[in-house]
Amino acid sequence: MLGKKEAPKIIWLSICSFLLICLAWTPALSGAATKNQSINKTSEYEIWQTLGRAAGEKALSMLESESDSQLIVLTSAGSSIISGFDTLGCLDGLSKSTGSTMGRATLLPVTTRFDAPLWFAFFHRSTGQTAYFELNPKQLFMDETGQFMKPEKSLFTNDQLVGLMAEELFEKARQGELPDMQAMSGNLFRITTLANALHKGLPGRMAKALSLHDHYCPGLTSGVLFAEYMRLHHHLDPSQEIFVLTTQPWCKEDALINLLAATPGKKAYATIYPDRQDEEQMSETEKRISTIVFTTNPHGLWRGAALEFLWGHNQAVESFDSPLLDRLAAVLWYLDHLDEPERFVNLVQWIELPQGSHPRDWMRPGKNPLQLIQQ
Ligand SMILES: [Zn+2]
Repeated sequence: MLGKKEAPKIIWLSICSFLLICLAWTPALSGAATKNQSINKTSEYEIWQTLGRAAGEKALSMLESESDSQLIVLTSAGSSIISGFDTLGCLDGLSKSTGSTMGRATLLPVTTRFDAPLWFAFFHRSTGQTAYFELNPKQLFMDETGQFMKPEKSLFTNDQLVGLMAEELFEKARQGELPDMQAMSGNLFRITTLANALHKGLPGRMAKALSLHDHYCPGLTSGVLFAEYMRLHHHLDPSQEIFVLTTQPWCKEDALINLLAATPGKKAYATIYPDRQDEEQMSETEKRISTIVFTTNPHGLWRGAALEFLWGHNQAVESFDSPLLDRLAAVLWYLDHLDEPERFVNLVQWIELPQGSHPRDWMRPGKNPLQLIQQ
């Protein structure tokens, strides 16, 4: 059985990388890989670290790039589970071969569902050319002892090379050519928005919110600006608790949860899901307020900043009649204004809770948090 001491045997991939793709495979010994209980964590890590390195080398070849600092790498590694295996180790291999790192915000694991394909996208920062491909799990073979075998064909499939630099996409759209939304197995929107945002210099701490949301959109931007507004204008200190109560949810929630560390799991976040009829019945004040950020004062009293978002991009950016490009233009415009959240965030009112009252009290079954809002 494959044990820890045998781990070096499976590092063949790292030594020979893609050259092995052309070598013969031994069908008599093979079987499609599935997680074997005997594979320990070290060897499992080695497999995926090696595969990540191979993916990076393949991308450098596709992009005809030798530089190790020109790529922004996006991947579903870390979320995708392939044949029962955890794929997180790919991230270290990708860093080794491309030089992209999470610390530089040039390597971003994108949250996907566990059963999503393991995909990789490599955006070249000079040209915008983006190499995309996916792991072909059918080429992961394991022999009867649990050792991985040489693949019959390439480990990777669905290779694509697409130009994703924002300005080029905008220029093509002006000429009447819109992006093919089916490209990159339907991942085009998330890859285009994330890569261009990171390329333009989205602060690394915000990349975490992108990672969770899996794409970058104006909705997420509004959450980023809400969080920045609270950080810059309300001087939160570590002793203050935070509770986020949303009365109109949209993509911003993933930024609020992430950037304010206010998660439902920690009972620090709650939302309601009003339908269109509910929204129509809201008062004008309730329609303006979408999120209330509660904090405690030194006496433990809760006070909520009831916030409205004022969209600012509609008049400022070009329209392309393309949901992808319109959103891309908007998020890139907002990136130039992340340091002025007060321009987009309006404090509609403060909501003071009485002694002994917690915002969660308004989220109990049968309660209506809209009653907190002063009309
Ligand atoms: Zn979104």
